[in-house]
Amino acid sequence: MSSSSAVVSPRRQRPVIAIDGPAGAGKSTVAAHLARHFGLLNLETGAMYRALALKAIEKDVAFEDEAGLLALAAETTIALEPRLEGNRVLLDGVDVSRRVREGDVTAAASKVSVHAPLRVWMVNQQRALGRDGGVVMEGRDIGTVVFPDAEVKIFLDAAPEVRGNRRYLQTGTGDAKVTEESLVKELKERDARDRNRADSPLKPAEDAVLLDSTGLTLEQVLEAAEQIVRSHLEHNALH
Ligand code: C5P
Repeated sequence: MSSSSAVVSPRRQRPVIAIDGPAGAGKSTVAAHLARHFGLLNLETGAMYRALALKAIEKDVAFEDEAGLLALAAETTIALEPRLEGNRVLLDGVDVSRRVREGDVTAAASKVSVHAPLRVWMVNQQRALGRDGGVVMEGRDIGTVVFPDAEVKIFLDAAPEVRGNRRYLQTGTGDAKVTEESLVKELKERDARDRNRADSPLKPAEDAVLLDSTGLTLEQVLEAAEQIVRSHLEHNALH
């Protein structure tokens, strides 16, 4: 243990690693890699917004109906189960991991997430999940709102065309209606909503390390992210 261990937060013996950034920047891939590499739990907060959006679709609650969405949240249980390949998402005990990744839920999550009272509900749960540290938490507001005291903050970005292209290759070409152009358009719309909302807009925390993956290979991005975490851990002798 080096003398720098004195800076370890008295509340947490293990770090919170916050990964924020726009849609399609590779946050999930980076977060999963860091979790595996450093032995941490990987929590995808977007999946919680997606799960509530799915329930709103199922219960026919309009995405603009803030009070209705809040009432819905009050009777909803969302659980994230970290797995190597990503989070298993349980909505009221039912596995909706695949369903929440579909296009209608993706668009709905981005609309539902603009409501400030709903974000308070989400943030409280996310803070409880990460309270003891030992997590890589990814989303849009982790470093700015959920854990402003996170030990490591990475803001992962890439040009919209690059993000759209990666998403396209990832999604496959099974659905003829999904073109690369339509994916770029959808990403830009979600970004605009996330960046321009009044509450907790998407932006890098002042103390975040910016990682732009536009011209990097996946391996280079993972290595850069790993290095950011490693230098923090070495500095603070947290493990
Ligand atoms: O990250 P993912 O694409 O799964 O997130 C789905 C939507 O949830 C985003 O488009 C964003 O509007 C919202 N979100 C958020 N804050 C977070 C995580 C996700 O507003 N921390």
